[in-house]
Amino acid sequence: MLKLDFHPTGRHFLQIPGPSPVPDRILRAMSLPTIDHRGPEFGALGRKVLSGICEVFKTRHPVVIYPSSGTGAWEAALSNTMSPGDHVLMYETGHFATLWMKMATRLHLAPEFLAWQGSDEHLPQAPSWRRGVQADIIEERLRLDSAHRIKGVCVVHNETSTGVTSDIASVRRAIDAAKHPALLMVDTISGLASADYRHDEWGVDVTIGGSQKGLMLPPGIGFNAISPRALEAAKAARLPRSYWAWDEIVEMNKDGYWPYTPNTNLLYGLSESLDMIRAEGLDNVFARHERWAKGVRAAVDAWGLPIQCVEPEVYSPVLTGVILPSGVDADAVRRLIYERFDLSLGTGLGKLKGRMFRIGHLGDSNDLTLLATLAGCEMGLKLAGVKLAGSGVQAAMEWYASHAARPIETRR
Ligand code: PLP
Repeated sequence: MLKLDFHPTGRHFLQIPGPSPVPDRILRAMSLPTIDHRGPEFGALGRKVLSGICEVFKTRHPVVIYPSSGTGAWEAALSNTMSPGDHVLMYETGHFATLWMKMATRLHLAPEFLAWQGSDEHLPQAPSWRRGVQADIIEERLRLDSAHRIKGVCVVHNETSTGVTSDIASVRRAIDAAKHPALLMVDTISGLASADYRHDEWGVDVTIGGSQKGLMLPPGIGFNAISPRALEAAKAARLPRSYWAWDEIVEMNKDGYWPYTPNTNLLYGLSESLDMIRAEGLDNVFARHERWAKGVRAAVDAWGLPIQCVEPEVYSPVLTGVILPSGVDADAVRRLIYERFDLSLGTGLGKLKGRMFRIGHLGDSNDLTLLATLAGCEMGLKLAGVKLAGSGVQAAMEWYASHAARPIETRR
């Protein structure tokens, strides 16, 4: 028989920026027997998760839940709202923004890819991958489009390849200042339920989410939160779509059902995840991630290694990208850390391949799992011969010890 569990003692440290570790509570919830997806029990589950997920997106409007990865939900957002040849303004924050742009081309749209203009001595090939979206460039470009040929503005909220969380409200303001009717579409696949996000308040038309990050679920659920304007645009949009089409799904979701077989057991997990998030409170969830991120950044600073994001106001609460000195293969360091300490770190993606690794600090974690993660990094970096300015573990211990988390509830 093929052996699939390579971690015989203790828990594997899954510290990539998603999939994040799945809490035991959610694993147990998903082990309930699969039920008839057209029976009465299912309707109750469907209605619960469909209304609960709206609280996480902060919307009063429909959220569609697909049995898909995040990539499917990207495609759903574009194919429901756009027509062949439509111009879309996209912004190069990193690898995931680039993949979404490539998808737009494959779907026969005409993407225009804006990027931060300037040079960066350390990473000359990727200055735009170190900063947040610059809303003023978007506004300038939209002002030039007096014929309103641009139909959508697409940005990634939490760019998982770099550790940058862009200011979405500023993008909305830019679109409004240019008096442009383009739809605003935002990928918060890795920001959902870990970084502050407000679909309605920020005037987002389609928000794309995924299950395997802040929601602490396995991969396999994609989301589209849809504004009334986007639903209206879908009526005229002519890109071919069938599986992804919102209309039938939204209609059947009213009673808690789907037009096809949904991923029932993942929905049990989603129901549990929503209960956990509601009990903690979204603001506490965000504060918890911010606090963890600060401790991890204190460690990276103490090592004397640069952080991929160079704008402190857009540091991601979800992950931190650590740049290694030139000449050091970051993937070789990651491999060493995995083999010696049973710890998985995120690889450098696209233009950053081999240059950096990413530490995920999201979901089902705590101060001590993060300290152990940082210890694994520190030992691995030293074994790989990377010169460190000081102990990151020591710096993070001091940071966590002097910035108390919410106390653990022991009262009955
Ligand atoms: N967008 C972002 C920001 C992501 O982090 C990811 C995956 O990590 C994706 C899109 C693609 O999602 P998936 O791999 O679930 O298809």
